[in-house]
Amino acid sequence: MTTKLSPMMERYKVVKAEHPGAILLFRMGDFYELFYEDAQNASRVLGLTLTSRDKSSENPVPMAGFPYHQLDGYLQKLIQAGFRAAICDQVEDPKKAKGLVRREVTRVVTPGTLTDDQMLDPRQSNFLACVAPSKNMIGLAWLEVSTGRFLLTDLEPSQLQDELARIRPAECLIPESAAQDGQLPMRRPDPSSPVMTTRPDWCFAREEAKRLLNEHFGTKTLEGFDVEDTPAVTAAGALLEYVRETQRTALPHIVRMEVWRRSRHMIIDEATRRSLELAQTLRDGRRDFTLLGILDETCTPMGSRLLAEWLSSPLTDPEQITQRQDAIEEFLQQLSLRDDVRELLKQTYDLQRLTSRIATGRCSPRDLVCLARTLEQLPRLRAKLAERKSKRLQTLEQRIELCPQAHEAITMAVVDEPPMNLTDGGVIRPGFNAELDEFRDLMRGGRQWMAQYQAKEIERTGISSLKIGFNKVFGYYLEVTAANSSRVPPEYIRKQTLKNQERYITPELKEYEDKVLRAEDRAKALELELFTALRDQVATFVPLLLRTADSMAEIDVIAGLATLAGKAGYCRPTLTAEPIMDIRDGRHPVLDRLLPAGQFVPNDVKLGLPCPDDEQRAIGRVQIITGPNMAGKSTYIRQAALITIMAQMGSFVPAKSAVIGIADRVFARVGASDELARGQSTFMVEMTETARILNSATARSLVILDEIGRGTSTYDGISLAWAITEHLHDEIACRTMFATHYHELTDLTTTLKHAANWNVAVQESNEDVVFLHRIVEGAAGRSYGIHVAKIAGVPRLVTDRAATILLTLEEDHVNADGRPKVPQRETTRQRRQQKSLFEFPEDPLLEEIRRMEVDNLSPMQALQELYRLRKQLTERS
Ligand code: ADP
Repeated sequence: MTTKLSPMMERYKVVKAEHPGAILLFRMGDFYELFYEDAQNASRVLGLTLTSRDKSSENPVPMAGFPYHQLDGYLQKLIQAGFRAAICDQVEDPKKAKGLVRREVTRVVTPGTLTDDQMLDPRQSNFLACVAPSKNMIGLAWLEVSTGRFLLTDLEPSQLQDELARIRPAECLIPESAAQDGQLPMRRPDPSSPVMTTRPDWCFAREEAKRLLNEHFGTKTLEGFDVEDTPAVTAAGALLEYVRETQRTALPHIVRMEVWRRSRHMIIDEATRRSLELAQTLRDGRRDFTLLGILDETCTPMGSRLLAEWLSSPLTDPEQITQRQDAIEEFLQQLSLRDDVRELLKQTYDLQRLTSRIATGRCSPRDLVCLARTLEQLPRLRAKLAERKSKRLQTLEQRIELCPQAHEAITMAVVDEPPMNLTDGGVIRPGFNAELDEFRDLMRGGRQWMAQYQAKEIERTGISSLKIGFNKVFGYYLEVTAANSSRVPPEYIRKQTLKNQERYITPELKEYEDKVLRAEDRAKALELELFTALRDQVATFVPLLLRTADSMAEIDVIAGLATLAGKAGYCRPTLTAEPIMDIRDGRHPVLDRLLPAGQFVPNDVKLGLPCPDDEQRAIGRVQIITGPNMAGKSTYIRQAALITIMAQMGSFVPAKSAVIGIADRVFARVGASDELARGQSTFMVEMTETARILNSATARSLVILDEIGRGTSTYDGISLAWAITEHLHDEIACRTMFATHYHELTDLTTTLKHAANWNVAVQESNEDVVFLHRIVEGAAGRSYGIHVAKIAGVPRLVTDRAATILLTLEEDHVNADGRPKVPQRETTRQRRQQKSLFEFPEDPLLEEIRRMEVDNLSPMQALQELYRLRKQLTERS
């Protein structure tokens, strides 16, 4: 038997069906209620008590709920748990509703479309991304709804994962069909990957996407954005469509879209980002002990977010880098100017997010006041920046729009300390609107009248404990203790009897109550009207405010980087197009700050520099760094990569001096133990990433490799490491730093012209080994491991035995000169010359025969060789 649903539940079902995949929060009176499966999920995630509606019926409906004013907190938990939530509100006044109150979904909150400050991390951007695959390309668009920043680009499929790792969106839209066939080149989801939201394929129609974008920007064509007719446009359109659907408001703060040009930025792939701990530590995902954490001296959340963006995509254009450097230098030299600017910035609020809340009509009275306080600082900020020498600071100064009209409009209309919610009343300043003042007088007068009326009634009845109270059910009442109830005058009308009190009303009281309540209602309505008008007026400044906000963010980043450069003793690096690196007394930017002052040992890095005695030769483009574990090899090579990244961000760097050849990409393959958690074999991960480096590095790249080949047996490992280094040296010819504890690899320099050996100096004393962390030229001492073991107290018997074993092993794979017996390497050119039409692998025996020195064999020896070869052949078959 099916129970007939109440009209309200009928409506619930309709709304729920319109929002598949979202948890529906259904407003009923002062509560948001959840039903059925949503209630079950919510009780689990939010810790709400699960009850049921229609308990007595055969099909009770599971139900859970919370008071409406706790919405923000609960929403936050739902979103963090990866849910989407549709909020269905009462969209008409229940008092005026005829029949069932009309309810509509007013917005859908998803991880990628958050705008509320409480739900956003102030220091982190919150992007929504959209992927539109086509035949050979992938369109990618990303937008931060809370700031209106909107970008798009076209990618090769193999680039998608890296771009997503760079952008770190909270949510990613993909077409339904792509989700089903699993063809998109994306990593398996893990806790750090975005929430995936599938969208129907029709949302990804190119023409419709263009129409939508043109409609939004009020344009006829998208050429003005420098956008071509590519899948990126499809992605941008599909994204905008989703944002419209979820936000359900106009989006005037999305004023433009920007084409992301990969070639203008240094490319850092996902593995490198992780290895170098740019924004998150490998171990526990923390921010503070990362390069980002160290660089972040900004004093506004906007600056903090922009800095993260600069770090995630350093520049390759020397002109742009120089502009940033000039600006930092100016702030570095003008200490008091910098301090003043930072002091002013500290007095401001998050103008980007404030502005977008104003644009979408979701701002609170406090937001407007925060805007006014921010605007208040701008004239002084602009004045401070006037007459700057550096071009960038000049541009930034000009982009600050003071918007005095907006400031005036707000300060005239809104009180200094408004309540959080408009409905609490008291937002509009007295004297701003005569009608509102009148209602307020009435309300105030009402309170006075009540006090007088109470005094009068006490005197008249002689009941000294008589008092006036208020409740929502029957408004104002007179309350008398039960003991006094016999003394009340006859015109008192009894409304309620409690245990110890009686409550009455009188016609006089009701008459006044009407006036007061009506005044209250009207004051509220009028306040809402005035506030909306003010908000709309301020919203006309949105484009100017956004431009100002971007400018403030950049000033903050520049001032922050200058502050760090000043207090940590950084230098201004020289950028060059040559693929070289010359760092004097460089320090690891993070360790340098974390270790007590003066403890970090600085080191030089020299890569690809002209040879002092021979100008035709560049030395040491490939560095092989040997030394025992814990000596400081990883730190050294990471330091080189981090300094390069910092330099290309435009930042100063921790060194005495630095010349950095601009790198198109930085690759880092460091340690692999953390990968185990991802469920892949360590060695497989190591090789996959190495393969990527070998396939995509160019002569302009910087490659740092740490202990490649450690994940397999020693000989396997050494052989692979050897061949990989050769390839990087001969074929790619890029700057390479290879840290290894395999001493055998130092022999690479005998055959590789541009390779150089470096090692970590270690001081030995009788009982102890001291790591000096100083990197010096040359190969590390051969028997170092055993020596260290001796010093460390490993019994003599064991170390002696180890030394003997080492000798035997070495005899086996070392030739008469003490060099490993590594076969001669052919370069690609040589191999190409040998290519036959059909490439059958050559039988190794042929090579043996070829190498046979026949002239030096006696007839007997020749016969023996022949027998041996035949034996090998028969054994094989
Ligand atoms: P390796 O890669 O040779 O095993 P690491 O680079 O991991 O060694 O360094 C081991 C530890 O030595 C680091 O955690 C750090 O504390 C310290 N260290 C490394 N380099 C330096 C340096 N230049 N100055 C001071 N301490 C250093």
